[in-house]
Amino acid sequence: MARYIFITGGVVSSLGKGLMAASLAALLQARGYKVRIRKFDPYLNVDPGTMSPYQHGEVYVTDDGAETDLDLGHYERFTGVSAHQGDNVTSGRIYQQIIAKERRGDYLGATVQVVPHVTDAIKEFALADQGDHDFILCEIGGTVGDIESLPFMEAIRQLRNELEPLQSLSVHVTLVPYIKAAGELKTKPTQHSVRELASLGIKPDVLLCRAEHPIPDGERQKIANFCNVRKEAVIPALDAPSIYSVPLQYHAEGLDSEVLRGFGITDAPEPDLSRWYDVVDRHQNPEGEVTIGVVGKYVGLQDAYKSLNEALVHGGMANRVKVNINWIDAEIFEQGDSDIAAQLEPMHAILVPGGFGERGSEGKIAAVRFARERNVPFFGICLGMQMACIEGARAAGFDKASSTEFGETSEPVVGIITEWMTQEGLQTREAGGDLGGTMRLGAYEAKLTANSHVSTIYGGATTISERHRHRYEVNGAYMAPLEKQGLIFSGMSPDGLLPEIVERPDHPWFVGVQFHPELKSKPFDPHPLFAGFVRAALEQARLV
Ligand code: GLN
Repeated sequence: MARYIFITGGVVSSLGKGLMAASLAALLQARGYKVRIRKFDPYLNVDPGTMSPYQHGEVYVTDDGAETDLDLGHYERFTGVSAHQGDNVTSGRIYQQIIAKERRGDYLGATVQVVPHVTDAIKEFALADQGDHDFILCEIGGTVGDIESLPFMEAIRQLRNELEPLQSLSVHVTLVPYIKAAGELKTKPTQHSVRELASLGIKPDVLLCRAEHPIPDGERQKIANFCNVRKEAVIPALDAPSIYSVPLQYHAEGLDSEVLRGFGITDAPEPDLSRWYDVVDRHQNPEGEVTIGVVGKYVGLQDAYKSLNEALVHGGMANRVKVNINWIDAEIFEQGDSDIAAQLEPMHAILVPGGFGERGSEGKIAAVRFARERNVPFFGICLGMQMACIEGARAAGFDKASSTEFGETSEPVVGIITEWMTQEGLQTREAGGDLGGTMRLGAYEAKLTANSHVSTIYGGATTISERHRHRYEVNGAYMAPLEKQGLIFSGMSPDGLLPEIVERPDHPWFVGVQFHPELKSKPFDPHPLFAGFVRAALEQARLV
């Protein structure tokens, strides 16, 4: 049976619990253990699929097509373990299932209540699908004391009683703030948070204390005394120079040893951290730098493009260069050509990322045109590929080329997909149907044209599998004129119907993909498209 690590957060939100969970999992994995990480989100949305990227950051899509919290991206990037639908649950999903059962009469007349029905459903989710995992880490979203998270805390309390002794462990992430005026670190918020957790019946075994300044020994001892843990279990978690140095930093502070000790494991193999040393070395000792302009819509909040940001960093690691990302609001390009040149001329490459809705689309199309005409490396992802096709169509003389996503158009170069093949058979959608969970989601194969630029980028592969999240597609009726204009369709769905990749053979590096390669990039295994794109930016940088 798997061992369980429950991770809660206290004092304030945004302490980086997801990163902490991912780092701990990576450390256990480095010792040879098989790990899996799950996220419990207490909010009432069924999944984050319909939430604004401004509020919630990016929606992370799994191979099996689940729209999940962006923390699952951290989990995958740090462990390489592919997450799936069963690794992220929200209160909304749990209530949806319970209410559906209640309506069917499955509760046989019983009163349906938070305890036991909601808590049982949470426990079931935690215990499902244990496989041969050595450790299952469960991160609870939100902060201890939130009304929404109470059923989750209660479920953990019960689970900790039901699991065998030494089969579960509680890690609590807190903040030890530095009060400048007093010149001191303060332990009181941590004490209060642990007390709050204890009042819910959960005694933490390990405290991970986020701090901006080193925690002196005396303060560590004080936290231990007041919070009922041993001093070695008070792990200082200081701000790190980069997220990729966090596993090494936590290891140096003894996190993984303390966790193993909490399970009574004394004979664990030493971790092999070589891959993390290499990642940190590549990240911290670059041999050059490039600047990439990302022309998008949600540029005000970088979490909205979390995986993209990381994948570009990985592309930099692959080439041992620092990637400076210049986030540019596409809307500013809708105000006249001169701005475009001023903004984009200093860029060594241009990327138009995924997105939804019309706002900024003309600016994105203008950015594509700039990249095409000036021979600047260009990478279009999902909506970015669609914009590249609309730009190509306009260059081919279809002046009114547009997407039906932006309203009625006489030249629908991009239109809604109403039918596509899945492993389960034909999927169909109504144009005006529900927005939640109804896109073409998850991993689909694409066939690449042999000897095309993308096939070379993928190491000569002619079949690839990548993750999708889109409702619109490039209209096959425009393929011939687009190819004549110079935009070649070098990747298609296996049935040959859905365009997956476009490229321009007469351009130094111009690739558009209908999928999201950024979701599969890892620091220790950078995605070939990002490695290739950054390499092209580097070549461009040497030209200018
Ligand atoms: N809005 C576009 C679509 O639904 C692109 C989606 C995306 O970029 N993820 O097809």
